[in-house]
This record gives sequence, C-alpha cells and structure tokens, in this order.
Amino acid sequence: MNMYKWFSLLSTRQRSEMVTIMLITAIILSIGVVTNLPKEKTVSETFTTDMSISDIAPGLEVTGKGLARELVLPLDTPKKSPLNKLGISQEQLDHAVEHILSHRSTSLKYYVFAAIVLFGLAYLTRFGRPDNANISERKLWYPRIPYIMCLLAAVLVCGFVLGKSPNPMEGTVKVFKSMVGLYPSIISKLIALSFFVVLAVIGNKFICGWACPFGALQELIYSLGILCKPKQWKVPFWLTNTIRSGLFCVTLLFLFGIVGGREGSVIYHYLNPFNLFDLHFDHWLSLLTAVVSLTLGFFIYRPFCQFICPFGFISWITEKFSLYRVIIDKEKCTECGACIKACPLHAAKGKVESKVFPADCFSCSRCLNVCPVDAINYRSIWSKRQKINKESA
Ligand code: SF4
Ligand code: SF4
Repeated sequence: MNMYKWFSLLSTRQRSEMVTIMLITAIILSIGVVTNLPKEKTVSETFTTDMSISDIAPGLEVTGKGLARELVLPLDTPKKSPLNKLGISQEQLDHAVEHILSHRSTSLKYYVFAAIVLFGLAYLTRFGRPDNANISERKLWYPRIPYIMCLLAAVLVCGFVLGKSPNPMEGTVKVFKSMVGLYPSIISKLIALSFFVVLAVIGNKFICGWACPFGALQELIYSLGILCKPKQWKVPFWLTNTIRSGLFCVTLLFLFGIVGGREGSVIYHYLNPFNLFDLHFDHWLSLLTAVVSLTLGFFIYRPFCQFICPFGFISWITEKFSLYRVIIDKEKCTECGACIKACPLHAAKGKVESKVFPADCFSCSRCLNVCPVDAINYRSIWSKRQKINKESA
C-alpha cells in the first residue's frame, strides 16, 4: 500500500529515470553474462602427490609460496620436491586445491555488484523521495521494499549462486597476501580492491550497505521486526573500531612474519564468514564466526562489519572522500534527535555533532524520512541542498 502511494507521488521525471536506470542495470547484467560466463576457467588437471609445488601452483594460479601455505608448509619449502617426499598426503593436497579453487573469482559478480550499486544510488538520490510529496508525507519516502529486493539479490546472486569470491573482504586481504608472495600478481588484486573502494567512494560505503552478500544477510536479519528492544542499544564506535582496526594491524604483523616468525599466516582465514556462500567451511572458526555474526545480528547492527571486516575498516577511512552521502543541513537542523534514534549506529549522531570521523554510515536510508524540518538529504557533495517541498500544513 505504501509502495503504491509512494509510486503515485513520483513525478514523470522520476518515473522515466527509474525506467532508465532499470534498463541500464539490465544492460550491465547482460554484458556481464554474455562476456564473462563463457570465459570462466576450469581446472581439468588431476593433481597428485607425485608432483611438486612448482608443477601444481601455476595450474591453480597461485605462487609456490601460496600453495606451500595452503599445505601448511613453511614458505621456503623446496618447490621442486615431490609432495609425497615432503610428507603431504593426497587428502591434504585435495583439501588445499579445493580451498584455492573456492577463491577463484566469478567475474560476472563484478557486474552484479555494479548494477546493484547503480540502482541503489539512483534510488537514494533521484527517485526514493517523490518530487510530488510534501514533508508531512515523509514517512512515504524511501519505502523499504526496493532496498530489501537489492539485499535479497546480493545474498542470493552475489552469495549463494555465484559463490563467495570475489567479495570486498577477501579483495582487501588478497592484496596483502600478494605482497608476501602468496599470489603471482599484485596488480590484479589491487585492481579488484580498487573496484570495491571506488564503489564505496562513489556512494558512501554503498558496496557494504547494498551489495556485499554477507553485509546484506546481516542487514536482512537486523531488519526483521523482532528483538526490537535490545536493538536500541548501540555498541560504542570507539570500541568496535578499536577492535576492527586492531585486528587489521595484528593480521598484518602476522602476515608479514613480524610477529609469530612465520610469514604468510592469515588470521582472517579463520574468521571468513563468506565461506557460508559455498556451504563449505575450511575451519570450524570460520563457521563459528558466521554463526555468531548472524545470531548477534538479530540485535546488533552488522556485528561482523563493525567488529571484524578489514574492508569495513578501509571503507570507513574512505568515507571522508565519498561523493554521494547523507548530508545534514546544519542551518535547518534543530538537533531534535529523530535521525539519531532512527540510525542503527552512531553515524547520524556523529553527523549531527559534526564529528571529523563519525561512525560508519552504511547508506541504509533509515534516517532519510524522519527529519521534521527536512534537514537530511542523500546527495552529492557538490550539489546544493534539495529544494524543500511544500511545508507541512
Ligand atoms: S564491512 Fe560488512 S558489508 Fe562491508 S565488506 Fe565487510 S562484511 Fe561486507
Ligand atoms: S541511518 Fe545511519 S547508517 Fe543509515 S543512512 Fe542514516 S546515518 Fe547512515
């Protein structure tokens, strides 16, 4: 019903823009399907323990060090020795191969990410708020259904259908793994990470808020109308960000061998909930991370993103440069607290208080239709504030 009312208030310009954006997203997806699916790589080789690391690694597109790490061998293990001479069983080799293959990227997914982000950004900036609605009708602005549809697409298509890779978290970690020689090309990993960072910068953390499959799953769980009372408690940002950034630093110290004395150890490997989308967990800790994150997600907003995810940390840093974002007009804001209450984090509070580094904003749109004086907009940093509609009667 609200959707119908919302749609009836859209101007002709907004309806045509909506159709245009849907056509463009359909074209992006079609290009992705046509140009990428036939090129997906397959591994036909059968790897045996008679072979050496040097024989096997190129077929898996990892370096000798990368394969050694998967086989739980020191990175300086002789790469020409047959694996059975190094004490590796066929079962261990099969397990390592399976894990490496699970990280192979499905390039189609980049197109799906881009399509979701484009649609979501157009929704927040162009047609979520009807031109023909006045401020007294603000509860009709930004209905949740388009957002929920995008989240479902992210979980189902970018998650379960296309598998766990690529995703922003692994995209971040793989750059650093390349630096210690676990992948042959750092350039390709940097390009993949840049793709996610660019999407996060264009629309404030948009890739996290709308398209990341594990982020979307947590968002859907949090959006369920249960356990409402505990949801009013928000974890202090200083705490979540200290844990998240601390974990990131500790991971780098272990990865580069500065702590632990063994280069190539990846803590995030044990905390990777994206394995859920392959329905295969290489370690019980990653299963535990997924279960705990999703369970806590009923009453804490995106716990994995807030406490653990390295891309969550990086995209929080880049928020300062985002081109489209929630902007509060300080001249109109009366500090009534409506947006602070609607926000599942301390992001709106930080914006109202003009903090230099407010908490992460996931562009979730909850605050965009609660302001009684129309002081909140989702807009570009260069545009003038949105023209106020007829004031409420
Ligand atoms: S912060 Fe959350 S939404 Fe963003 S990449 Fe990490 S898991 Fe996904
Ligand atoms: S409610 Fe909070 S997280 Fe969501 S868009 Fe508004 S400020 Fe950002």
